[in-house]
Amino acid sequence: MLMPRVKKEEQPEKKVRKKMKPIQAVKGMKDILPPEQFIWEHILETSRHMCQDFGFGRIETPIVENTDLFKRGVGQVTDIVEKEMFSFETQGGDKISLRPEGTAGVVRSYIENGMSRWTQPVRLYYDGSMFRYDKPQQGRYREFHHFGAEVIGEDSPAIDAHVIYLAWKIFQKIGIKDISIQINSIGCATCRAKYKKLLTDYYDMKINKLCTDCKRRLEKNPMRLLDCKEEKCMQVAAGAPQIIDNLCPECNGHFKSVLEFLDELEIPYVLNSNLVRGLDYYTRTVFEIWAEGDDNDSRQTALGGGGRYDGLIGLLGGEETPAVGFAFGVERVAEKVMKLNLDLEPKISKDVFLVQLGDLARRKVMKVFDKIIDTDISVGESVGRGSIKSQLRMANKAHAKLALIIGQKEALDNTVIVRDMKSGMQETVIMNEIVKEVRRMLSK
Ligand code: AMP
Repeated sequence: MLMPRVKKEEQPEKKVRKKMKPIQAVKGMKDILPPEQFIWEHILETSRHMCQDFGFGRIETPIVENTDLFKRGVGQVTDIVEKEMFSFETQGGDKISLRPEGTAGVVRSYIENGMSRWTQPVRLYYDGSMFRYDKPQQGRYREFHHFGAEVIGEDSPAIDAHVIYLAWKIFQKIGIKDISIQINSIGCATCRAKYKKLLTDYYDMKINKLCTDCKRRLEKNPMRLLDCKEEKCMQVAAGAPQIIDNLCPECNGHFKSVLEFLDELEIPYVLNSNLVRGLDYYTRTVFEIWAEGDDNDSRQTALGGGGRYDGLIGLLGGEETPAVGFAFGVERVAEKVMKLNLDLEPKISKDVFLVQLGDLARRKVMKVFDKIIDTDISVGESVGRGSIKSQLRMANKAHAKLALIIGQKEALDNTVIVRDMKSGMQETVIMNEIVKEVRRMLSK
């Protein structure tokens, strides 16, 4: 059928495709690329192994939880719940939040799964993404990762020391040796109530010297004022009454005992009376792991922290159960590892490296690769790249013992040149017998 002719001026204009604007990662969130992965693996694998050696079991909890879990668990008047939660309402009307920390979810799971019937204490470790709507900056992201460990069901000070000891050991094994354990006790509900009154009276007299946030927090959470990083508030905090002088005899005895255990284990610690931690659920021992030798404010770069939280299980609807735990930020630890320039780069060493030249050889090399990948012989290649010389350089870099070279002639003959990378000696072998021949030459 003849199509009607369209006059030139009536023809639709050719569309010029506009270059699309690239979509970027969400603010405060970042990719962890292959060159960083070996550092992350080193950190996570070291921590996981250490926890397993200490008798901890791995737990994974969902990334989202009911918002109420964090409101009740972490506390209404904390920065995290007040300002930093990613909260949503689902299509069904449920109010849920991306987890800002791991402990509340672990405790919910402990209660929900009846772990109080397990042999106590229950020791759990976890790692995963956490989310806080914080102002993004170096070492502070909106998605970051925690590695954490919790011991639930035991109030002995030996367990506090055990958990600090675990954290200490993990950092030593990762290779960050120059750290300090900052430690304090914030008492129990009884001694804290008395102390809060003392503190409020003190701050009431200095109210004009405080930042706006602290003025607001004073009524509901006066202990958070000790932790404020505003210069003027830090000056006021320096003269504040100290919780350590106001502990009840039980809390005092508990804290003394924790310190004695740490002395016994020869873990150096620094008593820090202004350390209160940002979360409501802590009782008695609180601690942070600070990187020493930083030019930055090390508070800003606290690598991790934790403490005892004897009230949390009750608060979340379980039987009153004592517990203690810690978590560290994997990004900050990875940044520290990078700064320290630790020699972690994996020495990937391959048994054989495949080298080819030309299209037919490339296809044959894929077949050889397929034969070898199914065996215990480790194999490297750079399919589609470079001259024979540059591929041999890559074989050297991969510490390969043998290079398997297929050029145009070998591709036609179905043979492979096997080159001993150390001696430079070469043999031509039949392609179908390559696995047998390689094994023979590797065993020499
Ligand atoms: P926290 O529960 O706030 O004490 O956090 C424990 C550790 O997690 C901190 O010492 C940091 O290493 C890390 N961390 C906390 N918040 C962030 C964040 N916004 N970005 C990166 N790491 C964080």
